[in-house]
Amino acid sequence: MSAPDSARWADIAFEDRMSTVEFRVGERAHISVDSEVCRSCTTRACVTACPADLFAPTADGGILFNYEQCFECGTCYQVCDAEGAITWTYPDGGHGVVFRQG
Ligand code: SF4
Ligand code: SF4
Repeated sequence: MSAPDSARWADIAFEDRMSTVEFRVGERAHISVDSEVCRSCTTRACVTACPADLFAPTADGGILFNYEQCFECGTCYQVCDAEGAITWTYPDGGHGVVFRQG
């Protein structure tokens, strides 16, 4: 399977998208989210922008975040305009996402 271009990206089923990658999960969370900051957020941009669907709104107005299946794309950090909400780093060496061919 060749790499999809951006116009076709949305047509790919989430399961198919995830089946092309593997995750070497590190013990340290390379991204953390301060749910207290998120409570005053009106956009919730991270929820729709994250291609791995890792941000989940909680009933109390916060955000539940799981770093383990992160693509390391940086989109969440780009779309979030609330200072201090997201702390973003790359995973430690040898950990993180591995993109596979075909
Ligand atoms: S991470 Fe940023 S965009 Fe997402 S809910 Fe929190 S403040 Fe809003
Ligand atoms: S870096 Fe990309 S995949 Fe990882 S949490 Fe942010 S938006 Fe989602």
